[in-house]
Amino acid sequence: MCKHPLKGFPIGIWPDSGKPKYKIVSYNTDFVRFDGDYWHALQGVPFGDYVSEFIEIPCGQCIECRLQYARDWANRCMLEAQYHDENWFLTLTYDDDHLPDRHELVNCDTGEIVPSPIVSLNKDELSSFMKRLRKNTGQTDFFSFYFFRRANGYLLLNFRKVELRDGMVLLLSPHQQQEWHVNEVELDYTFLIFREDFMRTFIADKFFVYRLLYYYQTDTPPYLFAEPEELTEYMRLLKKIKQELQHPVVDTYNLIVSVLYYLLVIINRAYAQTYRLPVEVPKNNYAFKFKDLLEKHIRTTQRVQEYADMLRVSRITLNNSVMAQFGVSAIHLLKQRLLEELKNELLFSNLNVSQLADEFHFSDPSHLMRFFKKETGKTFTQYLMNYKRGIYE
Ligand SMILES: [Zn+2]
Repeated sequence: MCKHPLKGFPIGIWPDSGKPKYKIVSYNTDFVRFDGDYWHALQGVPFGDYVSEFIEIPCGQCIECRLQYARDWANRCMLEAQYHDENWFLTLTYDDDHLPDRHELVNCDTGEIVPSPIVSLNKDELSSFMKRLRKNTGQTDFFSFYFFRRANGYLLLNFRKVELRDGMVLLLSPHQQQEWHVNEVELDYTFLIFREDFMRTFIADKFFVYRLLYYYQTDTPPYLFAEPEELTEYMRLLKKIKQELQHPVVDTYNLIVSVLYYLLVIINRAYAQTYRLPVEVPKNNYAFKFKDLLEKHIRTTQRVQEYADMLRVSRITLNNSVMAQFGVSAIHLLKQRLLEELKNELLFSNLNVSQLADEFHFSDPSHLMRFFKKETGKTFTQYLMNYKRGIYE
């Protein structure tokens, strides 16, 4: 119930709707009185042409009103949700750097033109957000790990087919298309999901996720097989995280971050061991920064030299650090990432080859087609045909 309700005195009927018309005044008012022009809010003993019966009107400001508002929305969402298979609830806000330009107002006293104190939504931005959202549906910006005790079927991950096996630890990076072909009832697994920035905020290690060898790895598969005792250890850690989530206390966040951090590191070690990847302590961060830059610029920048320039190091230095860290050359990493992006775009967007060439800043569609053929041994058409026939590579 509202802590600071207002009083609403019925003073007539709205002619259009036939609903009662209320004079809304503060709660210490005892009656309202009409003086021929205006309804006055008065205290004490009523006199003259007055109304003293009233209804309580929630203030809309106090904590109870805000909670009620939230409950009303929750109820509305629950009711709406019954009509759809998938439901999202989003709250969109601007950050300070992207506030839209303010309208201009005239200050009536001085005649000055001043920016409006109110910043409002730029509707074009909402509609372009909705477009991007639709385009990206089917992907997530979460890491999601599956620890399978019993598995069956397969997963189409981007353009790759991953057969699911017992004891498999599947490590999915953000922004990968997922299409599951499994018998859910027969699966026995534990599932961990977290956002990249969850770690970034709390651990002063900007490149931590890039140190994870399975993050957007294109040469080695996105999974490893755990020995029973390893799986037991992973389960123990996941259980710890779950317990904390269920019964949060003041330092729950810190505990979860540290357990998750530990879990990610031991999985990383196991992954490195499985695929014989380098585990040396890096002398510098160039390799990770390169991966970070690839994620941001792969569509527009496709020369190792350009990345070396961004990092202000020589191409040779960059190549050496990438080699030491990931066991492949910088150009290889770049090409793999570019192909990944191209294949996804080819399969999951409706762009034609010349639009694709534009999107990826190739000067001519024929250059793009030649690049693709050289790297994959297939033309775009062959690649698409194969995919439709169930040949995933
Ligand atoms: Zn209230």
